[in-house]
Amino acid sequence: MRQADTDGMLRALALAEQAAAAGEVPVGAVLLDASGAIIGEGRNTREQTHDPTGHAEVVAMRQAAASISSWNLEGCTLVVTLEPCVMCAGAILQARVGRVVFGAWDEKAGAAGSMYDVLRDRRLPYRAEVVGGVWEDASTALLRDFFEQRR
Ligand SMILES: [Zn+2]
Repeated sequence: MRQADTDGMLRALALAEQAAAAGEVPVGAVLLDASGAIIGEGRNTREQTHDPTGHAEVVAMRQAAASISSWNLEGCTLVVTLEPCVMCAGAILQARVGRVVFGAWDEKAGAAGSMYDVLRDRRLPYRAEVVGGVWEDASTALLRDFFEQRR
């Protein structure tokens, strides 16, 4: 863990809280460049945008790529409050993001070590370093509160 990871996770948690306030599943993500600066932010937007791909990671990567005018996010770190799903893990590899730091493990749909390990699958041409379970309790609490309120 680097200081920038910690700062990134704080921001990602704030974005997740914003998602919950907007009626979206509370997941937030930021993209850090090699120096640790935030170049993209995202939170779940599926309800708002009616976009099935509107996951926090995809939104953050789109913003980061636009900010540097390149799809290639090599050298960047994605910090996200929940373990990425299969779709996001695929997008992370497509963007060549080299490092992923996430909060809560997702035992039901995680693709960074839980259900699948897409990010470290040696059969694929690209892989990412994974740091999981960072401040897991904070991310899990946000998700638990959100789904408890909906019941
Ligand atoms: Zn996803």
